[in-house]
Amino acid sequence: MMELAKKPAEGEAWDVLLVGSGPSSLTAAIYATRGAASTLVLGGVKWGGQLMLTTTVDNFPGFPDGVHGPELMGLMRKQAERFGALVIEENVTELDVSSKPFVAVAGGKKYKAKSVIIATGAEISWLGVPGEQKLLGRGVSSCAPCDAPFFKGKKVAVVGGGDSAMEEALVLTKYATEVTIIHRRDQFKASKAMQQKVLNNKNIKIIWNTEVMEILGDQKVEGVKLLNNQTSKTSELAIDGIFVAIGHTPSTKIFSGKIDLDEKGYAKYPINTPGVFVAGDVHDYRYKQAVTAAGFGCMAAMDALKYLEELKG
Ligand SMILES: Cc1cc2nc3c(=O)[nH]c(=O)nc-3n(C[C@H](O)[C@H](O)[C@H](O)COP(=O)(O)OP(=O)(O)OC[C@H]3O[C@@H](n4cnc5c(N)ncnc54)[C@H](O)[C@@H]3O)c2cc1C
Repeated sequence: MMELAKKPAEGEAWDVLLVGSGPSSLTAAIYATRGAASTLVLGGVKWGGQLMLTTTVDNFPGFPDGVHGPELMGLMRKQAERFGALVIEENVTELDVSSKPFVAVAGGKKYKAKSVIIATGAEISWLGVPGEQKLLGRGVSSCAPCDAPFFKGKKVAVVGGGDSAMEEALVLTKYATEVTIIHRRDQFKASKAMQQKVLNNKNIKIIWNTEVMEILGDQKVEGVKLLNNQTSKTSELAIDGIFVAIGHTPSTKIFSGKIDLDEKGYAKYPINTPGVFVAGDVHDYRYKQAVTAAGFGCMAAMDALKYLEELKG
């Protein structure tokens, strides 16, 4: 092991404490340790983040043949640990950034830190219907920029009525032969401009007032069972893929009142608490990609290293 960052003595503060263990946190850990900062990753009981839920990641640079999400996260973790990061698979339940050193509680233990990077990401809102989790990565997706090319010449559906759903549908028209938006209301809540783009696109069909009851298929998605919530009629639609675009929830509940959050609960970026930094999907509701999360992680670590230098005076 090429350990560049030493752990602090018992009871001393860590230079950098990371909350979360997705691509943003583990990239920050690589940069922080390589900057010789003692680095603790309180990675959560579900370590690795959203990519642990997926199969092939085809758009992360450096993997010309694609890479499985969990494998990619394992490699990032190994790289961070190689330089001396300590990863603990516990959830942070409390974070006090009101006085120095900062204190985080995880697994009932207290950890002190000179700087903190919050990289707790976001959780996709899923439909919660039968078949969805079983077929995740086998036709069920939440990210058209990631997965649209897998559906070349196929039929797909998008569920949702906001800007994200419109964007997903428009991306999918570049590959799929048929794109159907399934929406539970009789109008979209997306911006007028996005709606217009969708409504003007002849390759997009819309099924209004309709909810997905079940995703059908054994090894891969073969269709969906639908319920018209006005007529109570059920029907089936044959599709090869379904993109769920009904929202993301940033994982910021425990930081409420501690750091600045926007009205949707995303961390404000940049954050205005000296010594506290944020990285990845926890603040980025626009791009939501592994590579952008990693980029934000790099930036947060470099900012934290600069802050630690300034502390020394
Ligand atoms: C099914 C699926 C497929 C995807 N495919 C692709 C793809 O092919 N390409 C691509 O670029 N992007 C893809 N994405 C998006 C990508 O995974 C995210 O943009 C990226 O993972 C965000 O990274 P992050 O580090 O900001 O947060 P996350 O990956 O969300 O990680 C956050 C981590 O923080 C942890 N955490 C939360 N709260 C706490 C707490 N209190 N204490 C400790 N830990 C905590 C969570 O358990 C999690 O491990 C996909 C997403 C999904 C859901």
